[in-house]
Amino acid sequence: MGRLEEIKQRSSKIPFGRIVVNIRDYHWLLDQAREKCMTFTKYQQLASRTAKKHDEELINYGLGLSAEAGEVADLIKKFRFHGHKIYEDDIKKELGDVLWYASQVARVAGIDLGDVAESNIAKLKKRYPHGFSSEDSIKRVDVKDDD
Ligand SMILES: [Mg+2]
Repeated sequence: MGRLEEIKQRSSKIPFGRIVVNIRDYHWLLDQAREKCMTFTKYQQLASRTAKKHDEELINYGLGLSAEAGEVADLIKKFRFHGHKIYEDDIKKELGDVLWYASQVARVAGIDLGDVAESNIAKLKKRYPHGFSSEDSIKRVDVKDDD
């Protein structure tokens, strides 16, 4: 029997589908959830395993990022103008390629992909405090005059 099953058996059940667990089991369950959670930082580390290390990585991965973004655009173009079907799996695969190259550009630049994600959300919150609007897009309050 696995630990999860042991915890389920040890735990006392209470109404509304809740269970009560001891603190050690709680931390173990939390660790299990963290292990399954894919963060941007963790993704970047895992993706880097398959990156070819050389002197021109930034150029290699910058061009690759652009090419993969083009593959996403091509799927959409063929769907809209050529009568192709568009499949979720194909979009997911190409967006994954975009993410891989973006993660490697960030790595070569010494930037944690998690920081990229957090910074982008912070910028968007500042630019669009109430969600997207054309007015806020034109104002771009997060951009300094010299940018
Ligand atoms: Mg691709």
